[in-house]
Order: sequence, then C-alpha cells, then structure tokens
Amino acid sequence: MRPIAIIGAMQEELAGLRHAIEGAHTITMGSRQVTTGSWHGHPVVLVLSRIGKVAAATTATALIERFDVGEIVFTGVAGGLAPGVNVGDMVVATEFIQHDMDASPLFPPMEVPLYGQTRFPTDPDLTQRLELAATDILNNLAQWIDSKVLHELHVHSPKVHTGLVVSGDRFVSTSRECQSLQTRLPQALAVEMEGAAVAQVCHDYGIPFAAVRTISDRADDAATNDFNRFIHEVASRYTSALLGAWMAKRLSS
Ligand code: SAH
Repeated sequence: MRPIAIIGAMQEELAGLRHAIEGAHTITMGSRQVTTGSWHGHPVVLVLSRIGKVAAATTATALIERFDVGEIVFTGVAGGLAPGVNVGDMVVATEFIQHDMDASPLFPPMEVPLYGQTRFPTDPDLTQRLELAATDILNNLAQWIDSKVLHELHVHSPKVHTGLVVSGDRFVSTSRECQSLQTRLPQALAVEMEGAAVAQVCHDYGIPFAAVRTISDRADDAATNDFNRFIHEVASRYTSALLGAWMAKRLSS
C-alpha cells in the first residue's frame, strides 16, 4: 500500500493530526520533519510544507520521489473571495490557478509557460470524498468546537463550497487587492499560497491530489486580525476532525 501524504502549510493546522498518527516516526528530509505512521489502518506521511508555492512544490516533489506516496491531500486555511464564502466555511478545490503567474505577452496571463494550461484540476474521486467529509464535519460542528468560540468568530451555520481556488505568493489582506482578484477571477472561491503549486507537481507525476481549505479571513482589510484569531482558536481542530472523517470514509468505501 503506497502511503497517503497529508501536507499542511502551518504548524497550527498539523498539530492536532500529529497526535492521531499511530506508530509515529519522524524522519528529516532537507529542512523538514516528516512524520510517518498509520491512520485508520492506512500508511500516512504527514509534513509541514511551510508557506508559499516554492515550499509547497519542493515538499510535494520530495514526498513523491522519496516516500513513493500514492496520493496527496493538502489541508489549510484560505481567504474567502467569492460572495458568500465566509469565515468558518470550507472550500474543497476542484481546480487551481496561479493568480500571480504572468509571462505575458509571451503567454496569456496566468498560463503556466510550456504547459499550455492555466488551470490544474484535482482528482475527482478524492475531491468528492473530501467534500462528503467536510459536509459531515460542518453538520456536527458543535461536537468539535465550542459554540462560544464559533460565536466570537462570527461563524454561523458554515457551508461547504466546491470549485476554483487560486494561489499566489502574497497574503491578500487589503480590500483593494481582494476586489481586483474578484474582478480578474470571478469564479475563484478562495485565495491561498500553496495549492496550485502542489497541483502542478501532482500533474507532472500523475499523482491524485485533493485540497481543502477552511476560510480564516475574507482577504480584505480585516484579514490579518481574522486570520490570527482563527488560526489559534479553530484551524487545528477543524483539520483533524475533517481528515479523520476523510480517512474513515476512504476505508468504508
Ligand atoms: N502570519 C503567518 C503567515 C501566514 S501566511 C505566520 O507568521 O506564520 C497565510 C497562510 O494561510 C498561507 O499558508 C496561505 O495559504 C493561507 N491564507 C489564509 N488567508 C490568506 C489570504 N488572505 N491570502 C493568502 N493566503 C492566505
């Protein structure tokens, strides 16, 4: 059985998961610590990518080359872009675009040169299971997160959205930049800094990939505050609940 790789960008998101892994063993890979073990009876490899497209791409490549992982799931937080994508919601990606890729006029803006494509899709089966797990978790959220905390973060009946997520090496934290992204990419549900890079690497190697993001902020003038509060109080609990449900589902299907 080839291991499932779970990648997260931030320590807080992965903290909860590390405790869930059975027979956890830590290996150093470059400057990264990789935790191997099993979860729900399946071999897993867990690693912190750190932030940004380069960090994410090198992490994914090393996992494929060195650990022969059979699939990759990325978990993290993101800024909501489309109307109605609010703090506490989850976005399951069906495809990714690098919003900061621009080799124009040689290539159309946002097209990845020499690939002839702008959008990199995720694996439909993995993505569908992730969507089901996300729906389960949000339907039973009170079980995982104190309702007082949710109330303080203004999280009321959070939803699951499925669609386009965009990535770039920028923390989008002004309403101006957020609006400009919405205008350029009206279909984009959320913005983050790693997913499109991992999607491109998985495309190169033919590895199934899925990604889920919990919305920590609205990528606007309030983003920095919202992001910090969300990361400390909620992100880690959402992530372990969600991926636990996802792992359990893959075994029962
Ligand atoms: N202050 C943090 C840095 C966070 S960068 C620290 O010191 O560790 C933001 C991280 O969350 C990235 O991994 C990115 O993928 C995601 N993210 C959340 N909201 C975002 C936004 N508004 N714009 C871009 N990335 C966002």
